[in-house]
Amino acid sequence: MFETLTERLTGSFGFFKGKKELTETNIEEGLKAVRQALLEADVHFKLAKEFAERVKDRALGEKRLQGVDASDQFVHAVHAELVELMGPEDATLEMAKVGPTIILMAGLQGAGKTTTCAKLAKHLRERHGKRPMLVAADVKRPAAVEQLRVLGKAIGIPVFHEEGVTPPVVCERGVAAAKAQGCDVVILDTAGRLHIDDALMDEVAEIARVTSPHNQVLVVDAMTGQDAIESAKAFHARLTLTGVILTKMDGDARGGAAVSLKEITGAPILFLGAGEKVDDLDPFIADRMAGRILG
Ligand code: GDP
Repeated sequence: MFETLTERLTGSFGFFKGKKELTETNIEEGLKAVRQALLEADVHFKLAKEFAERVKDRALGEKRLQGVDASDQFVHAVHAELVELMGPEDATLEMAKVGPTIILMAGLQGAGKTTTCAKLAKHLRERHGKRPMLVAADVKRPAAVEQLRVLGKAIGIPVFHEEGVTPPVVCERGVAAAKAQGCDVVILDTAGRLHIDDALMDEVAEIARVTSPHNQVLVVDAMTGQDAIESAKAFHARLTLTGVILTKMDGDARGGAAVSLKEITGAPILFLGAGEKVDDLDPFIADRMAGRILG
């Protein structure tokens, strides 16, 4: 994972080998390599430039620790700025004080949304003692409703669906059914489509309007690089995103999405999808991710 980003970033540390102190001059080579590493991992050039500036300010501004050479000082600054960019606080889902917690899940088709709905339901039950209900409102992809039913059955979580009504109505009725059945979390699996289109955006915005979810979570495929970033921008324009789940982190993602998503959406990454199985969901910890990126 992140081979290119990791390799290039760690490559940038080599410029300081044998140097005792970081200076305005010798830091430039390292910063150039950091910018290049981010660009190659699909990070927008403006963000890459700003990031390098912040690394510079931090690295030159920090008090030099005893026994720490220029290279360590630089690595430390890159790590700290990565944490700042992706965190700095590790976020969690917001839980409703009264009534069921509603979680709207959005994303492009194939991002892993339906699978992630099931993963999240299982996680909330097992780690937080919740009683979730899944709502199948992805009626555009005929197999999606069946897929959610199969997943729900496998993990013992109820799945609500109703034929012949629009997705916003399915979601409203799903929330009502959850209340009636004593479920305290409702996860809405909304429609995904292959490309961003206005009808999709109108529909998901309407679902948000009628259900007032406590969490509006975007599911993004980490493997899709620049497309992931474009889709995040489009959803961010229409929803009040409160969190992101980055899937397929077990593949050879270039890392740019993980680094850029919070900056683009204003919403923190909550979880990482790390495989096709229902247990392959890890809470996102910025410090750990920075460590993974830096290898
Ligand atoms: P949706 O169209 O967004 O609902 O996507 P699906 O949930 O149907 O997932 C699309 C494909 O991605 C399926 O084959 C999933 O098994 C797979 N998938 C989902 N999440 C992950 C993940 O974290 N890692 C891997 N390797 N595959 C995933």
